[in-house]
Amino acid sequence: MHRTLILVALFIIAASGCAQKEQAPTEADTPPDTEGQTSAKPDGHYHPKGKAPSKHTLAVIEKARASLPFADKRDFEEQKKGFIAAPTYMKIMADAGHAAWDMDRWQWVLESEDFDSVHPSLLRQAKLNMNYGLYEVIPGFYQVRGFDLANITFVRGKTGWIVFDPLTAAETARAAKEFVDEQLGELPVVAVVYSHSHGDHFGGVRGIVDEADVRAGKVQIIAPRDFMQYSVSENIYAGNAMSRRMFYQYGVLLPASPYGHAGQGLAMTVAAGNLGLIAPTRVIEKAIEVHTVDGVKMEFHNAPFTEAPSEMHTWFPEKKVLWTGENVTGTFHNIYTLRGAMVRDALAWSKYINEALYLYGKQADVMIASHHWPRWGNDRVQEVLRGQRDLYGNINNQVLHLANPATSTTRCSTWRTRASRSTRSTTSTRHRSRLASSGTTAAITALLNTTAAR
Ligand SMILES: [Zn+2]
Repeated sequence: MHRTLILVALFIIAASGCAQKEQAPTEADTPPDTEGQTSAKPDGHYHPKGKAPSKHTLAVIEKARASLPFADKRDFEEQKKGFIAAPTYMKIMADAGHAAWDMDRWQWVLESEDFDSVHPSLLRQAKLNMNYGLYEVIPGFYQVRGFDLANITFVRGKTGWIVFDPLTAAETARAAKEFVDEQLGELPVVAVVYSHSHGDHFGGVRGIVDEADVRAGKVQIIAPRDFMQYSVSENIYAGNAMSRRMFYQYGVLLPASPYGHAGQGLAMTVAAGNLGLIAPTRVIEKAIEVHTVDGVKMEFHNAPFTEAPSEMHTWFPEKKVLWTGENVTGTFHNIYTLRGAMVRDALAWSKYINEALYLYGKQADVMIASHHWPRWGNDRVQEVLRGQRDLYGNINNQVLHLANPATSTTRCSTWRTRASRSTRSTTSTRHRSRLASSGTTAAITALLNTTAAR
């Protein structure tokens, strides 16, 4: 118990030195409105020295508009399906007095089809991530989206809620629970499941659970194997360094603007509040374990060294719902994060998605995850599982394919361009056919277009 308290204290120290505090600009030519998290009008650059996109940028954007499958609108239908209500407020205040969350900052992404300074794929993702409020997945399964970087999911048990992934900050998690109480009736939290060891999936737990209730056995906390080891190593041992680097990776202090911060792929941004932790009371040690909690049968499937070193999926056999944590979302997740998280094993990632597909996906009616929106219908579930499995498998294979002959990243980029030019390509016929048969163009395109994620 004593160890838990020390860890929590360390978390608070780590969090206070990191992303969550607004920092005053110090450079003389710092943009005038970057203090804190502000937004700028979409019709002009926020900085007096800011430039319009160059002709090279415009060419890249134009090419993306013409070549990416924007006609496929299924994500938009899935994103809005099951909407119950949105709060009347856009801002969630932190206990320290600043805004922990403010959806108003990005309303501009919904106001125009295109911006010449934002890649159309990132803009599309930002529009999808503007979902905000409470959604029903199926009766008994609800998600609050747009309150933080992750979704918080509420599964109805016999006497209360089983909560999956209680967000980054106590303030946003508390607001989500209050909104659920308001819309669906007040119920206690009887269990919390952490899908993995990243802070946006456990940091808000103290906003919805009193640790005394956990100690008294009233609330269970369930986590995958080695959860404490990896949550502590990332958030405490390397916490300050990684938080500092995160500022640069995501540009979190830039104004929300077509010339600044336009979302982070997984969601709009990370909440700026109190990050904490309550240690699990049950760790899923075996490859697969079945437990019934408050009348809900759940099959936990460990998937280590995938998106996180400690991560698991959950299958609800009675409801045919598959929860994929952060392993299958609406993006191509990064493999190496510039903020310094452990490099992910794309091959293991692909293999565990394949396991989930054959164990559960072939029976699943719905698939939900800790970011983005659900997939309904078995055909769609399988389509997304298979596509994501192949994406991570292919990136592993093609990186090795190009790394072994000592291909530089610049050269990869050149090959990508050449491979996409088919008839005008200057590569040899033999090399072109090798590229085509191995799917190199898709892999390199994916590699270069990896969206920012935790
Ligand atoms: Zn996450």
